Amino acid sequence: MAVTQAIPMTRHPYADGSYKKMLIDGKWVDAASGKRFETHNPATSELLATVAEGDAEDINRAVAAARRAFEGSWSKVKPFERQNLLLKLADLVEKNFEELSQLDTLDMGAPISRTRGNKLRVLGMLRYYAGQATALHGETIENSLPGEIFSYTLKEPVGVVGAIIPWNGPLGASVWKIGPAIATGCTVILKPAEEAPLTSLRLGELCMEAGIPPGVVNVVPGFGETAGAALASHSGVDKVAFTGSHVTGQSIVKASAGNLKRVSLELGGKSPDIVFADADLDAAVPGAAMAVFANSGQICSAGTRLFVEHKVYDEFVGRVAEFGKKLQVGNGLDPNTQIGPLVSEQQLERVSGYLAVGQKEGAKALAGGARLTEGALAKGYFVPPTVFANVQDNMRIAQEEIFGPVISAISFKDTDELIQRANATTFGLGSGVWTTNVSKAHQVAKALRAGSVWVNCYQAMDPAVPFGGYKMSGYGRESGKQHLEEYLNVKAVWIKTA
Ligand code: NAD
Repeated sequence: MAVTQAIPMTRHPYADGSYKKMLIDGKWVDAASGKRFETHNPATSELLATVAEGDAEDINRAVAAARRAFEGSWSKVKPFERQNLLLKLADLVEKNFEELSQLDTLDMGAPISRTRGNKLRVLGMLRYYAGQATALHGETIENSLPGEIFSYTLKEPVGVVGAIIPWNGPLGASVWKIGPAIATGCTVILKPAEEAPLTSLRLGELCMEAGIPPGVVNVVPGFGETAGAALASHSGVDKVAFTGSHVTGQSIVKASAGNLKRVSLELGGKSPDIVFADADLDAAVPGAAMAVFANSGQICSAGTRLFVEHKVYDEFVGRVAEFGKKLQVGNGLDPNTQIGPLVSEQQLERVSGYLAVGQKEGAKALAGGARLTEGALAKGYFVPPTVFANVQDNMRIAQEEIFGPVISAISFKDTDELIQRANATTFGLGSGVWTTNVSKAHQVAKALRAGSVWVNCYQAMDPAVPFGGYKMSGYGRESGKQHLEEYLNVKAVWIKTA
């Protein structure tokens, strides 16, 4: 494994150590409590900024502003104008993309090649939602009632949306919530993760520059138990769009019961990635490796349970381990870095705990296996690509979401039994199949209980293609037309015409 050299902290115009306020009703304001929290670079532990710490009082202010906007002037803004606002925002994001990529890298650690590589998707999302803003429509429906009664449906914005996001891709996650809200005519309060709030705040600035009216997009940083919980339980919020862990998802559902607000949940996973002996192994080795090592394994749909057909198990898993060892680990700002740090000390402890559990359970680390502390890496939260062989289905490392660069490689013989084992998880987010047999690919894709199946690829995403979970990976879909439906109410109108 190569280690990138220490590089000096680049002074970023936004992450310059200064204080950032929150965005409520088009104004940048302090927290009502006056509290602030710090955000640090996980590669170096350096302070990036202090941030206004929102809690229940700030959520109240933001919800009131969002409600005023929703019931006031925003309700009169035509689809074509909402489309234009999203297109303007897309242009501004494009213009400032390098700055935004660096900000994501600084705040949560992902390699700059990755945050830059998000460009197509982030801009694609904004422009896709812009396109959808003028494509929303109800239906006329023929009914069977006696007499002349005409029936049709109207699609109406659901209202004030509370959007709660994690830290593992702040720009993409923010756009994934703000985009459909604006397209459908909703208003939104975005609560970024406490670990990485900066890009969402900077995006708030760009929303203002694009001319999005006050109160339509509000950004309230703060902690989950305070700001997040207040948003989830607020009776003035009509829908919560949540991305995060299944445990928090459960508390969101409970908190939503007070006013029975609508909830959509994008949660975690323990996704199976299946390699058959007939696969193009040269393609499958990097594919299966990066299905987990990308973003240091901090991707909800990472293919962490690597099922490999027994005939090629030793060879394949050995090659994945060798591939992992060659990846360049280091500060995400270095363009050569392929594996950045984990987001925080807490995440480092969590992943290190699983590394110990795996070894204790009898799995064998063919690559990685312990935190990196050499040289400049000691100041950050670095875990190398890790490949555990000899993993059994019942081990904790094969059952629980680790959210680190850790592959649990499991052997299989029979396809029917494999399907049953691959589906034997409480989650159902992503899945992968590597084979040159087309019939087998279709059979397995149909049999897997997961929201996405990638065949001979992994992690392909597009704004037009729905993404989401089965089982405890959540409900609702993001991207695609269905995503817009999550932000819309359907009203049936009946008119007696005779
Ligand atoms: P998390 O659930 O701890 O936090 C996510 C967000 O929820 C943060 O903004 C946090 O402040 C907030 N939060 C925490 N407690 C809350 C509460 N009681 N009420 C309301 N809000 C609360 O998750 P995390 O550790 O930050 O992120 C990692 C998890 O997110 C993983 O499980 C990962 O799989 C999942 N994830 C899922 C997707 C997806 O699209 N399915 C995408 C990215 C991450």
